[in-house]
Amino acid sequence: MPIPPLYGHEGTRYRLVGAIASGRLPQALLFEGPEGVGKQRLALWLAQALVCEGGRGTGEACGKCQHCKLVLTLSHPDVHWFVPVEPSRKGADADKQVELVEEAIGEEIAARREHPLYGPPSGLASYGIAAVRLLLRRLALKPALGRRKVFVIGNAERLVPQTGAEAAATALLKALEEPPADTVFVLTTAAPESLLPTILSRVVRVRLARLGDSVVAAFAQQELGVTDERALAQRVALTDGRIGRLLAEGNGAGEADAAHQFLAAVKAGVAGRYRFALGVQPFQARGGFTSMLDGLLEELREQARNGGATQTVVAAITQVLEARALAQGNVNPQLVAAVLVDDLAGSGVGEEAPR
Ligand SMILES: [Zn+2]
Repeated sequence: MPIPPLYGHEGTRYRLVGAIASGRLPQALLFEGPEGVGKQRLALWLAQALVCEGGRGTGEACGKCQHCKLVLTLSHPDVHWFVPVEPSRKGADADKQVELVEEAIGEEIAARREHPLYGPPSGLASYGIAAVRLLLRRLALKPALGRRKVFVIGNAERLVPQTGAEAAATALLKALEEPPADTVFVLTTAAPESLLPTILSRVVRVRLARLGDSVVAAFAQQELGVTDERALAQRVALTDGRIGRLLAEGNGAGEADAAHQFLAAVKAGVAGRYRFALGVQPFQARGGFTSMLDGLLEELREQARNGGATQTVVAAITQVLEARALAQGNVNPQLVAAVLVDDLAGSGVGEEAPR
């Protein structure tokens, strides 16, 4: 099944189409804007326009040719969609690591094909050295089907420097600075200020705004089949202009709520903290608990972005990451929650006003 069409961002599309038609499209772009406004979908739309062979130089994709169809089913061999994945725990040699990352990315893309509205990646997902090596390998290939290759790199703020991998990092920077003639990079991020400055200085930034309610409503009606007017209005109002927030109840919004409850517990004094920890049900264990921790990480990152007490927030993020690793292992979530809520209370992180 093809992925749902792109909604909104008409002004940006218009400018991109014009740039393609006149041959002035920059080869390294960064789409930045709030989470869930469709940055990666817009990047795929651009990729389609770039590989389409039916558009007759208009800069717009025809939607009908073989290239268009392959992009829309996420199976075009020259459109490389990269997403951050959780590092593999298996010890393996470098080649095997690249294979594992390729597999993990493939699984994530398959999931996104199934579920067009996906949440943010887990707090542990990143672009490790193996992902960069995979990208460089694919970069070295000639286009398989058409004349161009497009690399879409979602959540580009998760590209972080790695010790011992300087050569690969340098190769990536060089590729961004002077992409091969047949290659376009589209990076996306909701946190441009978290991007490595070395990357930020090599891309042309394109800012995407929140969508109008009518655009979000159109998506909900046409792609999700929401018909009840009251339900529609309610769900649209909650999205704050971000289609990605139209998730089924219990997903994204639930995580954020749980994270707020957690931070409230941090501030609630000893008794309140233990009440919260004991309230963490062992049976909803790994899944529910780790996604609450993901919500918490998101919340802390937001505080860091808004200039919260950075040292404290960074320390808190480390503590949450440790808790997450424990919870994924065989440790009782109640125990992890009790320790974490205490650690965070000690660090003073709860004193930050929530957004
Ligand atoms: Zn086409």
